[in-house]
Amino acid sequence: MDKEMNYGSDYKFIPATSIGSGVGIQLLPDLFSHTIQIVNIILVGSPVTNEFVLVDAGMPDSAEEIISVVEERFGEKAVPKAIILTHGHFDHVGAIIELVKHWNVPVYAHELELPFLTGQKSYPEPDPTVEGGMIAKMSSMFPNEPIDLGTHIERLPADGTVPHMPEFQWIHTPGHTPGHVSLFRDIDKTLIVGDAFVTVKQESLYKVFTQEQEISGPPRYLTTDWKLAKESVEKLAALHPEVAITGHGLPMTGEQLATSLDRLVREFDTIAIPDYGKYVDKDLH
Ligand SMILES: [Zn+2]
Ligand SMILES: [Zn+2]
Repeated sequence: MDKEMNYGSDYKFIPATSIGSGVGIQLLPDLFSHTIQIVNIILVGSPVTNEFVLVDAGMPDSAEEIISVVEERFGEKAVPKAIILTHGHFDHVGAIIELVKHWNVPVYAHELELPFLTGQKSYPEPDPTVEGGMIAKMSSMFPNEPIDLGTHIERLPADGTVPHMPEFQWIHTPGHTPGHVSLFRDIDKTLIVGDAFVTVKQESLYKVFTQEQEISGPPRYLTTDWKLAKESVEKLAALHPEVAITGHGLPMTGEQLATSLDRLVREFDTIAIPDYGKYVDKDLH
């Protein structure tokens, strides 16, 4: 018998939004991003073949919206082949249990992320004191207890392949979380970043609302290892992506992406690492 799946006891709807909420963007014929309040979900796969995968699972209480986005793009009763998680933070797994029950599909995440997805381990508490803005200050209300997907979660294959995304490979990009991954397609240099870096200053309520584009490191209030976070950004920049969809903020492409990533790598300590906060190692400044 299947063990009952459950969210943590601190799971709840978070009242945050942006002008991008509810808006979808088709970046490539087989790459579609949709914003749930303040976080992006991504559909990879062509509506012509109808074979597709969902990357990340939105905010708490967003299952109905995600299902309708999927059905609008792929047809009524369309079902993804799998759900791939970049990491297990509440804003990336918010609707996952309802979606798994509705579609009965496998979910994949990095091995090091599994304790947070199988009820074994809580994420460190978000840091509301971190340098930033109103979202950072709100972050103490964010759920950090693990969800439990029981037998519905599997580890990503060790050889770097991504199930049902044949042209992509997963890249371990820890720092924001231990088992954070980004997904990369070499033929057209498409990068699904997760939260390894984002294109909006995610700590700021105003900038999140307006979605003003600004390259940033991972969201500060939930990032606990800044040394690894920096190495992960360097790893992604070295791939020279042409198209990047981040977990938060609008997609970035071409020259703007190249110069922004270059700047983020060179000035990581000033752009990304907060001046103060409980997870900031003094040696990094
Ligand atoms: Zn995150
Ligand atoms: Zn996030």
